[in-house]
Amino acid sequence: MLALDSPSGYTLSLILSFSLSTSRPLSLILSLILSLILSLILSLPRPLPFAVKVMTTVRLSFMESVKGAKRQLTFPTMHSCSTCSGSGSSTGKTMACPVCKGSGVEHTAMGPFHMQTSCRKCAGTGRVPEKSCTTCHGSGSVKSEETIDVDIPAGIEDGMQLQIDNLRYVTIEVEPSSQFRRKGTNVYSTTHISLPQAVLGGKIHVPGLYGDMAVKVPAGIYSGQRLKLRDRGFPSVHDYTKGAHILELVVDIPS
Ligand SMILES: [Zn+2]
Ligand SMILES: [Zn+2]
Repeated sequence: MLALDSPSGYTLSLILSFSLSTSRPLSLILSLILSLILSLILSLPRPLPFAVKVMTTVRLSFMESVKGAKRQLTFPTMHSCSTCSGSGSSTGKTMACPVCKGSGVEHTAMGPFHMQTSCRKCAGTGRVPEKSCTTCHGSGSVKSEETIDVDIPAGIEDGMQLQIDNLRYVTIEVEPSSQFRRKGTNVYSTTHISLPQAVLGGKIHVPGLYGDMAVKVPAGIYSGQRLKLRDRGFPSVHDYTKGAHILELVVDIPS
């Protein structure tokens, strides 16, 4: 789907033959050793067709990470040239490559070796556009952009990565909150209560991820004590569970 700045499909297929024109045995042995080394190198696995991973970053507010978000993301891509219908030729016709004379291979002499490589001009096809298309400069494809609607799941955490397809990835950044802290799927916050509330208990209202929460404070609270409010934390992106809201109660002592 994505193939960016492909270096004209130039393959490293070298076919080797060595010159037997020399009569000196030493040169022949040297040639044999070199050809063995080269054939070893050439038998190594070839790299996969040229493809580039594209990464992008999306920044979410803290609350967007709770509820999930939608974003339109634009990725670079290659499209078939519309001017020449992808042929690379403004006339639509091709002709024999002037570099390799239509054979698709280039010949290079390297000492006693004779090397044969894919033609760089025509990428080994033997044909080039009769008249290069001015839009795509004969390549048949043009750089373009693709806009994709991306659904970011609720509960996503700072640093997580979303995979759109096998080449496109989105890294998530979440802005910190002045009110809440996150640890796993749990959310932490602090609230102040009065000394009578701490002694007698009662009902308080505190901000939560899903709006204000009415919290029942038991009698006999000490400063720094934590209440665990189940299912008020972040939704997990892995399953249907939710974390807890851990509420720290700070008792205000009158001065
Ligand atoms: Zn050629
Ligand atoms: Zn074109």
